[in-house]
Amino acid sequence: MIPDATGPRALRRPLVAGNWKMHGLSAEGAALAGRVTGVLADLFSARDRPVDVVLCPPFTGLQEVGRAVAGSGVFLGAQNVHWEDKGAFTGEISAPMLLDLGCEYVIIGHSERRQHFGETDASVRRRLAAAARHNLRPILCVGETWEEREAGRTVERVTAQLHGALEGLGRETAPTGLAVAYEPVWAIGTGRAARGTDAQEVAALIRRLLGDLLGPELAVRTRVLYGGSVKPDNIDEFAGQADIDGALVGGASLDAEAFGAIVRRFAR
Ligand code: PEP
Repeated sequence: MIPDATGPRALRRPLVAGNWKMHGLSAEGAALAGRVTGVLADLFSARDRPVDVVLCPPFTGLQEVGRAVAGSGVFLGAQNVHWEDKGAFTGEISAPMLLDLGCEYVIIGHSERRQHFGETDASVRRRLAAAARHNLRPILCVGETWEEREAGRTVERVTAQLHGALEGLGRETAPTGLAVAYEPVWAIGTGRAARGTDAQEVAALIRRLLGDLLGPELAVRTRVLYGGSVKPDNIDEFAGQADIDGALVGGASLDAEAFGAIVRRFAR
C-alpha cells in the first residue's frame, strides 16, 4: 500500500495509464482491453475506485477499445490532440473528435512526439489549452535526454518544459484533471528505468513548479506520474515515493498481466 495515505497524498487518487503507441489493430486492441478489464475486475467492483486506469490505444483503436472498456471503470485516452476544433489540418484529430469516441484523457507532449514529429513547448501548450477547453484530462509529458542529464541540466529542462506548457494559463484556465508524467527520454523503451529516488526528486520539483504556476491547491491535487521502462519488477521503486502518484506505462501495458500488476501496486 502507498504510504502517507492520510496526508496530501490522500487528495490524489493514483493514476496508471497505458500508452500502446502504434501497436495493435482495432480487434487486437479490443481483445487486450478485455483482458485488462478482466484482470482488474475485482479492483473496480469496489465502491470507491482505488486507482484510475486509462488505456491509450492508437486513434484507429479508440472506438473498439472504448466499447471494450464501457462500464468497466477503465477510462479511454488518446495519444495526442490538435489545438483547433476543426479545419484544414490534414491528418490531425481534434478534442471534439476524441470526446465523440468516449475519450476522457489525452497524452500531450510525449517525447516521441517531440523527438520525431517536431512538437515544441509552444505546440504542447496549444494542445493543452484545447484539452482544457473541452474538459479532456491531459497527461502532460516532460523529461530530459541523457545528454541533458549528463550535463546536469535535468532541472533546467523540466522547468523549461513545464513553464512552456503552463505559464500564464492560471488556475481558471488550467486543464481539469491535469496529470504530469515525468518521463526521462533515456528511460523510455530502453529497459533502463530511472532510480526511484531520482524520479522522486524530479516529481517533487514538478510539484513545486506547479505550485508557482497554478497555485498550491492545484499543485497538491495534480497527479505526478513516472514513466520510462516501468515493469512489475521495478514498480516498487516508484510506488513508494511521496510525490509519485502513478505511472505512464509503454511496453508493459501491452501485456494485461504485467499492466495489471503495476496497477495493483498503486491501488490504495
Ligand atoms: C512511454 O511510452 O510513455 C513509456 C514510458 O514507454 P516504456 O514504458 O516502454 O518505457
